[in-house]
Amino acid sequence: MRIGIIGGGPAGMMCAIKAGENHEVVLFEKNEKLGKKLFITGKGRCNLTNYTDEKDFMKNLVRNPSFMFSSIYSFSPFTTYYYFEDLGLPLKVERGNRVFPASDKSSDVIKTYEKKLRQVGVEVRLNTEVTSIKKDGETFILNGREKFDKVVIASGGISYKLTGSTGDGYKFGKEFGHKIIEPKPGLIGINLSNNFDLAGLSLKNVELRVEKDKKIISKEFGEMLFTHRGISGPIVLTTSSKINRLNDFELYLDLKPALSKEKLDSRILRDFEDNQNKNIENVMRNLLPRDLIAYVLDSAKIPGDKKINQITKEEREELVKIIKNFKLIFASLDDIDRAIVTSGGIDVKDIDPKTMESKLVKGLYFIGEVMDLDGLTGGFNIQIANSTGYSCGINL
Ligand SMILES: Cc1cc2nc3c(=O)[nH]c(=O)nc-3n(C[C@H](O)[C@H](O)[C@H](O)COP(=O)(O)OP(=O)(O)OC[C@H]3O[C@@H](n4cnc5c(N)ncnc54)[C@H](O)[C@@H]3O)c2cc1C
Repeated sequence: MRIGIIGGGPAGMMCAIKAGENHEVVLFEKNEKLGKKLFITGKGRCNLTNYTDEKDFMKNLVRNPSFMFSSIYSFSPFTTYYYFEDLGLPLKVERGNRVFPASDKSSDVIKTYEKKLRQVGVEVRLNTEVTSIKKDGETFILNGREKFDKVVIASGGISYKLTGSTGDGYKFGKEFGHKIIEPKPGLIGINLSNNFDLAGLSLKNVELRVEKDKKIISKEFGEMLFTHRGISGPIVLTTSSKINRLNDFELYLDLKPALSKEKLDSRILRDFEDNQNKNIENVMRNLLPRDLIAYVLDSAKIPGDKKINQITKEEREELVKIIKNFKLIFASLDDIDRAIVTSGGIDVKDIDPKTMESKLVKGLYFIGEVMDLDGLTGGFNIQIANSTGYSCGINL
């Protein structure tokens, strides 16, 4: 068979490697080199996968985890780890089971794919954008002239467009009758409309909570930071992926998640007893980052220069409430072009999860981020690309 694969990211490269073992494969990449997005992953170090089992992998998927069941068992994170090591790429495992090349260079990951592509004889066509896919009987015709028996779309999502992921796969999918789940930014900063001047302030051991109709939608504990536009950092990125299809929700920060309301109140009472004649803004320094104090006191409607011995019980209770429920006013998610992953894309309901073949068009396949699949940070998104690429490749 002659197979055309559109997109030289991890999904397209993995698929080309496996399909190339048995077929004539042409890998089309519109950029001057393969893996342009891969190159910038993990801050240039490429968090290739997560050293964990299939069940844990599933827990780190935000959309359609059950779709991944078959392909993740075919090419699991552990298999991926040893696959790359066997190809001559030494790896290491860091905090949170994150896997990186031992060299800390994403370029070494790309070189590993390239070497294998050469070994199996895949024809890599760089600087070649696929602009049209037509089907004539059983044959696909790319760019009006080249014929293929099968076509695989591995064109990625629609973020960091300079890397080449400009959403072409959605256009092709639509032309073949596929439903596109509206692409939204995932793993992205959140813009706020609070009037904060806190850019650069980072917080540890806090909890970011999302509520809709008084129900908790998401609760993330860990680190975050304030930016010029709002908030970012690990717990914010995770939260963004969970709320990107929601409207009308509320965001709260628990600044002392380790303390219950009662414990926090006793802690504040103790601080107050020891500092009866001081201004509250100074006493709060024992409890909160200095830059946040004015905003917290303002929300609790307590003047910063009020003496502790004049603070009423009601004011103290309000203070406790605000520290546990510091309101952040959601404005928007940051721009999709800055998203680490695109949430949305080709609806997986129309894709066979074992082979990645379209259920609507025989011989047409979709793999990687172009589909409505996205994971959290930790190597899960490249694993989605590799596992779906692998499953498609071996089934081809
Ligand atoms: C800054 C950043 C850091 C990230 N870090 C990590 C990380 O450490 N770990 C992790 O797991 N994930 C990470 N991700 C996410 C990860 O990079 C993607 O999920 C993954 O690259 C998706 O792989 P893919 O092969 O599906 O698509 P892509 O990697 O986007 O590749 C698609 C390719 O298709 C090509 N293409 C598109 N249209 C056409 C066309 N019409 N003709 C020819 N070629 C075309 C593009 O040029 C591109 O090279 C990061 C993403 C970003 C933006």
